[in-house]
Amino acid sequence: MHRMLIFILYTTVVLLACSAGPPPPKSLSSEAMSEHSVSNSYYSRTDTTQLDLPDSVWKKVLPPEVYEVARHAGTERAFTGKYWDFEGRGTYYCAACGNALFRSDAKFASTCGWPSFFETVRLGSVEYRTDKAFGMSRTEVLCGRCGVHLGHVFEDGPPPTGKRFCMNSIVLDFEPDEGD
Ligand SMILES: [Zn+2]
Repeated sequence: MHRMLIFILYTTVVLLACSAGPPPPKSLSSEAMSEHSVSNSYYSRTDTTQLDLPDSVWKKVLPPEVYEVARHAGTERAFTGKYWDFEGRGTYYCAACGNALFRSDAKFASTCGWPSFFETVRLGSVEYRTDKAFGMSRTEVLCGRCGVHLGHVFEDGPPPTGKRFCMNSIVLDFEPDEGD
């Protein structure tokens, strides 16, 4: 009887020891990636088919902070976005739909506090609309595939284009070049 009790105690301890290990470490980046593929089925870096989605769909598939800028033409505070002083080599995609927008080669150090580019990755990457908000006349930049708000373009950029695409980091997804 005594021996039986010791045996039961022993197996209980062994079982507890096996199940009480620390949880496996989670990778932040892979979590962020899967968030896109799970909740936003419209996101694609290869499909260039135009998207015309109602606001109710965007509200469902975008994280709230992305939705606010993308759909309500919000602006993130200067010097707060993740890419304003970022210098990695690679491509910037629309965070809402995966459309390729800018190459890091076209990014320049701007003092405005938002990621700035002098040209888009291809013709049709973005669309333009006159924005009369706040008593100004500015040129709004929209994604050429899904139409969400990305930022504005100004005529005070560096050569060769003289353009300054002033973007919100939150609506951009950066993918580093392979091998970098
Ligand atoms: Zn887009």
